[in-house]
Amino acid sequence: MSQLKIAVIGLGAIGSATLLALARLGIKAEGFEQYRVGHEFGASGGKTRQFRFIYGEGDVYTPLLKRSRALWQQLEQEAEQPLFYPCGFLTIGTPDSPWFQACLQSAQQQGLPHSVLSREDIAQWYPRLNLDADEIALHDPAGAILLTHQTIMSSVRRAEALGARVNEKAKITGITQVEQGIHLEVNGDVLHFDRVLVTTGAWVRDILPATAVASRRLGMTFHLAEKSGFDIAQFPAVMRVTPGRAMWNTQPMPDGQSFKFFVGDAEIDEQKDPSVRAVSGSAALSETIIERIDRILPEAVNGAERAIVGGATYPEAYTFDQAPILGNSADKPDLFLGVGLSGHGFKLSPALGELLAQAVTGRIDLASEWPLFDPERSFAEPTAAYSR
Ligand SMILES: Cc1cc2nc3c(=O)[nH]c(=O)nc-3n(C[C@H](O)[C@H](O)[C@H](O)COP(=O)(O)OP(=O)(O)OC[C@H]3O[C@@H](n4cnc5c(N)ncnc54)[C@H](O)[C@@H]3O)c2cc1C
Repeated sequence: MSQLKIAVIGLGAIGSATLLALARLGIKAEGFEQYRVGHEFGASGGKTRQFRFIYGEGDVYTPLLKRSRALWQQLEQEAEQPLFYPCGFLTIGTPDSPWFQACLQSAQQQGLPHSVLSREDIAQWYPRLNLDADEIALHDPAGAILLTHQTIMSSVRRAEALGARVNEKAKITGITQVEQGIHLEVNGDVLHFDRVLVTTGAWVRDILPATAVASRRLGMTFHLAEKSGFDIAQFPAVMRVTPGRAMWNTQPMPDGQSFKFFVGDAEIDEQKDPSVRAVSGSAALSETIIERIDRILPEAVNGAERAIVGGATYPEAYTFDQAPILGNSADKPDLFLGVGLSGHGFKLSPALGELLAQAVTGRIDLASEWPLFDPERSFAEPTAAYSR
């Protein structure tokens, strides 16, 4: 049988990982990206992402996280550059909070290295970090920081080296299931493929309006650390999930001089068009961030502007149960979806890309092996739009 002709639409974290996984299977797929590869406008923008093994979202993710870690190591070797910086991960909460308990149970049941740190332990280990009086922390020593753009670029370049074709500035504007295969409209042409995978993130409803996702913008800021003790060798990635209190996360940047801050519960005006980056809520957001940093990292920054050296918002597609949508579309048998990563998809992207590559080539039946991700599952009510 001749080789399947496969297209991957959208080369962010998930599309680029899938293109590489297909290439590693010996399939010379074709990727389409509406901007340039490695751009800053999608959910994968903003330089870095957090990686953690201890996953309150459910034990089902643990093998995927382990596989992702191994694939990152492989990619680092192939790309001959670091993409994954171990620094540990702290989950902060009150001892009885549901998320904290879920993380602790997962660590125990999965046999993952971890330690529970009291407020006093934190004061000793990480003196820059200021917890509330009733908060404790769960330390995941395998936590890390991932480089986003470099990972995507490395995946795409490696896929090309293995035979993939990549089309930049190639926006897909129409998808039609025909008798055998799919027609794609791009830049005035109609192209035919046997199978098509849609990994278009927050833009998915532009071409598939019925997809069960909501597009939301998440904002983050970058700050110069004015004191020592915030570099990646000394300071972990941190996420606070105490119920009823502000949700935030922060992480050291690999440059050794700055850190990133993310306010999970701050109001950001939603933009219907994910390509429009301006948000009118950004001034208020900056104030919220400064107030939180003053409280959580009291010695981090002193300047009048609290040393904000950058910031932006990024569009992400959320499903109503915060599990991604991966697999076959119900009405278009040759169309596959890899969308709705719901604020936690970057760390999973190499493993999910591998699953999608296996599914689109008929090697596995995703719906029966991973029902959690089934596009046809029934969706519960929307939940909070955190990024994790
Ligand atoms: C602020 C923020 C912080 C986050 N923090 C973390 C974290 O710490 N750890 C973690 O694991 N995850 C985190 N996430 C989630 C993670 O970054 C995302 O889940 C992941 O990047 C999603 O990747 P994607 O490929 O689905 O989307 P995207 O990266 O947006 O990729 C979609 C691509 O499709 C392209 N495209 C769209 N439409 C078309 C079209 N018609 N034709 C051609 N191309 C098209 C777009 O240009 C884009 O390149 C965070 C997300 C945000 C927004």
